[in-house]
Amino acid sequence: MDGKTLANVLSLIAVMNAVVLLLLLRLHGRQPGLREWSLGGIGAAAGMIVASLRGIPWQFGALLLGNWMILAGHALMLIGMRRFRGLPPRTGPILATVSLLVLPQVAFPDLDGGADARVMVFSTAVCGISVLISATLARAPELTARLTAVLFGLNAASFAVRLIWTLFHPSGTDYLKSGAVTSAILIWAIVLFFSYTFLLVLMVSERLRDELSRQASHDPLTDILNRRGFDLVAEKLFSNRAPDIRPFAVLMMDLDHFKRINDTLGHEVGDRVLQAFSRVLGKTLREEDVFARLGGEEFVALLPNCGCDEGFRAAERLRAALKAEMPEPPLTVSVGISCGDGGATLTDLMRRADTALYRAKAEGRDRSVIADAMGF
Ligand code: GH3
Ligand code: MG
Ligand code: MG
Repeated sequence: MDGKTLANVLSLIAVMNAVVLLLLLRLHGRQPGLREWSLGGIGAAAGMIVASLRGIPWQFGALLLGNWMILAGHALMLIGMRRFRGLPPRTGPILATVSLLVLPQVAFPDLDGGADARVMVFSTAVCGISVLISATLARAPELTARLTAVLFGLNAASFAVRLIWTLFHPSGTDYLKSGAVTSAILIWAIVLFFSYTFLLVLMVSERLRDELSRQASHDPLTDILNRRGFDLVAEKLFSNRAPDIRPFAVLMMDLDHFKRINDTLGHEVGDRVLQAFSRVLGKTLREEDVFARLGGEEFVALLPNCGCDEGFRAAERLRAALKAEMPEPPLTVSVGISCGDGGATLTDLMRRADTALYRAKAEGRDRSVIADAMGF
């Protein structure tokens, strides 16, 4: 196929992808970076069409404008990827830099005579931006984002090849008129556009899947695990334990007279107290401990490799840390502790710890009580 036909096919595909990107934007507009990705894809698509127009007045101006739109489109993709990764977007400097990269092309206004120089300037710019996009996504937690990093790495490589090829095989004519290399590059651009759109759709869906699964397993007020998240994580931890003696301790915790805080100081202070207690749990417990808000002002923690004595000491540390964190309004917690080894089930341990907690409340609150010591 000749270069001109391929360029037309590419333009068509780019426009189709732009439509998909607009739809994606309409559906998931709040995803960070999506606006820039879509605009970038559309800008590059439109630029491709403008740059490949031939036989029109202001031919060279159209070519420059098209090249600028392609570069600015890539720049927007980079800005979008930065937003997706939670980095500062740096919109101004990035757009200004790619705009400057178009300027050297002004020095080669002859459409045929200056073609090689223009191709080299343009290829260098696209290669550079693609390397930056690739580096931005290379360490993303999402698999699809890392695949996009590979795609832009390949894009950088293809433009590096184009640059080097042009350097050693100058043709001296408009690139649309000639060459297997030009065809290869246009075919690559078609593959790139397709894969780019496809991967963006997957990146958004992977993000949404992760967000949904986090929302389903975390408590929105305190941002720690909720009952469902605790069951999932704890059950996994518990069932993977060595079947013999590795002990586990369970702490059931309930804030004392919490209703009074709500009634006297207001619900918002109550909410902040719940958040403060969750922070205390995070700071005081060990890395391997799992803790969650079961509901209301009730919390649970599962402590692996921990017997009853150690569980009791952890509970006492928690009570002391809470008093230090929340001297005003004074806040205390009652804790029920149970422990067990290979024979016990998690439900068993939680039930026994709950009974111990009930006992701690009955005995006057602000204390830790071990279930096993009471013969449960
Ligand atoms: P006890 O020492 O016996 O545990 O008494 P308590 O007042 O802590 O227990 P009670 O079960 O009587 O009251 C719990 C209160 O927790 C009642 C409810 O309004 C409040 N609560 C539950 N969820 C939330 C929440 O998300 N935010 C706030 N601010 N309060 C909550
Ligand atoms: Mg309570
Ligand atoms: Mg309660």
